[in-house]
Amino acid sequence: MIEVQNLFKYYGERRAVGPLSFSITQGEIVGLLGLNGAGKTTALRILACDLLPSSGSVVVDGIDVVDRPDEVRRRVGYLPDTPPLYGEMTVHEFLIFAARLRGLSRAEAAKRAGEVEKATAIDKVSRDPIASLSHGYKQRVGIAQALVHHPRLLLLDEPILGLDPVQIVEMRHLLRRLRGEYTIVLSSHILSEISETCDRLLVIREGEIVASGTESELSEKLLRGIRLECVFAGDREQARAVVRGLEGVRDVADASALETGKGVHAMHVEADRDVRAELVRALVGAGIDVLGLTRGERELESIFIRLSGSKGESSPEVPAAASAQTEATAAPKEDA
Ligand code: ATP
Repeated sequence: MIEVQNLFKYYGERRAVGPLSFSITQGEIVGLLGLNGAGKTTALRILACDLLPSSGSVVVDGIDVVDRPDEVRRRVGYLPDTPPLYGEMTVHEFLIFAARLRGLSRAEAAKRAGEVEKATAIDKVSRDPIASLSHGYKQRVGIAQALVHHPRLLLLDEPILGLDPVQIVEMRHLLRRLRGEYTIVLSSHILSEISETCDRLLVIREGEIVASGTESELSEKLLRGIRLECVFAGDREQARAVVRGLEGVRDVADASALETGKGVHAMHVEADRDVRAELVRALVGAGIDVLGLTRGERELESIFIRLSGSKGESSPEVPAAASAQTEATAAPKEDA
């Protein structure tokens, strides 16, 4: 669905993106993760044909964004970081307007507006002026306008920015509902949110991808292991001994269990690799009930801080694929 090869984008003398190479297959939900200024918006704008690349090749659904931008735009729905909404219009009027702008007939536009209102769960506010909606609803209207012309690819720039925790959960559900029907690329600087929603993460720093994979792949590659918290019912010393005996386990320590009850304990486990399946089997085999097993919370943040800090501050350990990319030669500079 997306093939990006050695893409560079310069704003005057400043390199915002590059060298950037990645591919995304049909139906994936991929997260672009990076701190402010990492180049996420620039990369999405190029994919949306809102901005021309300085050099390199970007192909969406088999079509080059420089050669045939209008055809790419027909296939792409784009939610910019500030949704392009008109507050005085009702939701329904605005969606018909957006559909008409993208070439749908009057009848098709009305039909499609109703469909995307349902798909994004904004049908209840369809007749309300956009200015009267909460931020969460405005974001959903922004997604609805991106879907209105039946695109194949959905590009969402920071769709969860500014949402409260309830709205974040709703947005996550919405994105899951859209999964399958659309290929989705979204950007965020909130690792825990993006990793919940996306099949795969591309971590971007100073315009380059420094790592890619699922959260647990990143964790295994970059943290050299896994941190777990296990809540169990049974003999504490026996449980610790069982877990210590597993290959790859580095450390086992007591943790405080949120649940209380007779014989309920918790332990932190550090291992060189993902030992979750073996750990559960071993404990259950020893007659110890496993009540909960979760990844260490701070693990997520450590990955992100490690990957997204400026080059000077971060650890030099990046996966081989990412290192190879950074060795690519610089492209000729070009004005925005
Ligand atoms: P944010 O999360 O803050 O939106 P981002 O990861 O989306 O950040 P970009 O907005 O793509 O990053 O910006 C990448 C770099 O390009 C930054 O250094 C930014 O200052 C610069 N930049 C972005 N837009 C322009 C522009 N129109 N003119 C000049 N420089 C720009």
